[in-house]
Amino acid sequence: MGLIVQKFGGTSVATPEKIHAAARKAIAQKEKGNQVVVVVSAMGDTTDDLIDMAKRVCTYNGQSIAPPKREMDQLLVTGEQVTIALMAMAIHAQGHEAISFTGGQIGLVTDDAFSKARIQSINKQRIFEQLAAGKIVIVAGFQGMTPQGDYTTLGRGGSNATLVAVGAVLNAEVCENYTDVDGIFTADPRIVKNARKIDRISYDEMLELSGLGASVLQTRAVEFAKKYNVPLHVRNSAHDGEGTWIVAETKGMEHIVVSGAALKKDITRVTLRGVPDRPGIAAKIFGEIAAANVVVDDIIQNVMDDNTANISFTVEHGDLNDLKPIVDKLVKELSVKATQTGDLAKVSVVGVGMRVHPGVAQRMFGALAKAGINIQNITTSEIKISCIINKEDGPKALQLVHDAFELDKLGA
Ligand code: ASP
Ligand code: MG
Repeated sequence: MGLIVQKFGGTSVATPEKIHAAARKAIAQKEKGNQVVVVVSAMGDTTDDLIDMAKRVCTYNGQSIAPPKREMDQLLVTGEQVTIALMAMAIHAQGHEAISFTGGQIGLVTDDAFSKARIQSINKQRIFEQLAAGKIVIVAGFQGMTPQGDYTTLGRGGSNATLVAVGAVLNAEVCENYTDVDGIFTADPRIVKNARKIDRISYDEMLELSGLGASVLQTRAVEFAKKYNVPLHVRNSAHDGEGTWIVAETKGMEHIVVSGAALKKDITRVTLRGVPDRPGIAAKIFGEIAAANVVVDDIIQNVMDDNTANISFTVEHGDLNDLKPIVDKLVKELSVKATQTGDLAKVSVVGVGMRVHPGVAQRMFGALAKAGINIQNITTSEIKISCIINKEDGPKALQLVHDAFELDKLGA
């Protein structure tokens, strides 16, 4: 008998019928003799609808303001709270016992970074008591509470973070992530028609892919799974077929050169010109940006002849609002010039096999060159190569690199 944590995303609980189908999956595991915890997201597009509503209310007399972040979280947590209660009711209706908890009720404590809070601790006692009493425990995903008792949310897609954090503290045998797709694909199948489902992938590869826009799993959730070595199984709630297992790396994984390709759209490059070239400046710039919880990547510094440097970095469009006041402040304090280029995309290939197979970069650049796609920046890690390109070239570039590494033949 094991402990299984399941998570059902928004599309998997979008209607009463789907909630019942999810409840059946939880009950099926319980009937096999397992203890079951179920983490749920808000129904369907609820979170998006709530965000829209907030935007409408925050537009007044023709002026729009950004909603106060604390109030935004106060609003968004309501979505998941609807689902937990309905899920518990569905399980009762099917003749089994269940109890639902909000984040606060299981002591899921976070810091106070509203809209992207980090989990600090979970009180597993309450969950264990209810499991021991024979109940299926339902937990609201995506939400937590500060030590002061304010509601927080964990970032879009944050129910995955809840899934893995709960799985880790309870030492679960597996975290099952039920969604509306069959698993993780070699590329987004909506763009690349011959993309294939990946059967097994390492945490590190998945981390790179989710950081690069493979949207099924939030990066933070995968980090957590890796840290606590919890196997994650991403699978389709519409059937019982196996999905993708995300697990610790095994030797055999290096045989595959590239496991997947990803495309991140909506990238903006910010360039600061005339930055004083002396120790401590980069630390100041990126320290201030990090303090605003903005994630940057692809940092490039060019030193000029006049003892100044140009520093460029890329951010996602979603972070531009948080970034703007920081850039304005840096412009004043360091007397630098700031410019911005939108309409960029990043195409990447990922695979632990790159460590042992040479020539991967050349194969990727060659595929893009042949199609006349201009590469603007290149960044690499031990298991990843990324190219910044024009946004309009994005989908084509993704297909090209997918073809170049014959990812459609993986596992065949
Ligand atoms: N409901 C939240 C969202 O849509 C959290 C989640 O679905 O994981 O982002
Ligand atoms: Mg959702």
